[in-house]
Amino acid sequence: MRGPEKNANRETTSGRHRGRPSIEVPDMGSSLHSEVGDVSQHPKRLRHGPGLYVHIPFCDGKCPYCAFYSVRATAEAIDSYLNALERECAWWKARMPGFRPQTLYLGGGTPSILSLAQWERLFGFLRATGFTASVKEWSCEVNPVGATSEKLRLLRDSGVNRISLGAQSFDDDILTRLGRRHSVADVRSACVEIRRAGFTNWGLDLMACTPGVSLGRWERVVQRALAERPAHLSVYALTIEEGSRLPAIWQQTGETPMDERMELRHLHRARSLLESAGFERYEISNYARPGRACRHNLDCWEGADYLGLGPAASSRMGLHRWTTGADLGQYCTAWRSGHQPPVQAENRTPSEAAQDDLVFGLRMRRGVSLGSLVRRYELDSARLTVWRSTCERLARLGLMEQGGAYWRLTRRGQDVADAVALEFMD
Ligand code: SF4
Repeated sequence: MRGPEKNANRETTSGRHRGRPSIEVPDMGSSLHSEVGDVSQHPKRLRHGPGLYVHIPFCDGKCPYCAFYSVRATAEAIDSYLNALERECAWWKARMPGFRPQTLYLGGGTPSILSLAQWERLFGFLRATGFTASVKEWSCEVNPVGATSEKLRLLRDSGVNRISLGAQSFDDDILTRLGRRHSVADVRSACVEIRRAGFTNWGLDLMACTPGVSLGRWERVVQRALAERPAHLSVYALTIEEGSRLPAIWQQTGETPMDERMELRHLHRARSLLESAGFERYEISNYARPGRACRHNLDCWEGADYLGLGPAASSRMGLHRWTTGADLGQYCTAWRSGHQPPVQAENRTPSEAAQDDLVFGLRMRRGVSLGSLVRRYELDSARLTVWRSTCERLARLGLMEQGGAYWRLTRRGQDVADAVALEFMD
């Protein structure tokens, strides 16, 4: 599904890390081991995290707008992937015996495409690493077609306590235009099964701003989503992602993206409907009932460490950030011969890491504490002065506001969040 909650731990096929150029590191091996040991020293440890992300890179087809890494699923390909993933788990267990993730996120691709036996196998070796014992929030993405009662019961009984359903829409025509392979009836029946399996912490993701869809029609989509009583809703505007098939398709059909002003009207309408229904917009694209925000993503956005497993999965440990190559064949071959596949790695300076946390932090309702960032990364006070004056300038423009120690975006600022973020980039 299209990154419910815009999960931070997977890379698109275009392999973008924002901003800085990356360096190739063929084997993170022992050097990373010693660096991971340093994480508790510098930067200062956060209250939350770390997290674990497991990428399941399989789908039953490719949606035109999607740039996440996934390949067409076959039983053999999934089995050989699980062989490799088991080796990767063992490799990390040997290097980080003290790794105690607080959250676990199974994303994709389409995790629910695994068979019951494949799920059992995956859970078996995840448990064997000891990585699941400390997990408090365990999320799994499911697609409407794969959300059978047997699979949902297995997930629940295995410890999954949060489900994210890739609904995308409650309008069959919009689903067809998005190139999705499920219907509204599939979404509704998945919602019933999720509730029947006993999940109370579950969410839906919706795709907004499909060209040609009227405001009234979009409003009905949101109302139908609310009628299913989810605890969480992610709302993304349809955008042209580098590496997706959408630009080529639209070139053929003559379709164009929704006009920016209309796009904002659609997003504002969703916000007002969701807020009236008791949801809090805790991140620009994410809404939750009180206490139901996705802890895994919150921790990642707040700068916590996370380990990502699988091709195209991203990881961050202290100042180090790396992404495994988006190539399933290469990933399986490497682990079959006992080697870590190539990763693209970046060693950030404390100042760069602080800037990353600042930009992500601004997307959240709570905002960011500039003083905490400076202390965490041991930056000098000149940095604080520069950031503060940028915030004050943006506040004069009505784009930012201060609440106690935190600076955050105003509603107007949320509409132009990307432009605001640029003001903080060196
Ligand atoms: S189901 Fe579609 S949107 Fe989701 S990961 Fe697969 S191709 Fe991408």
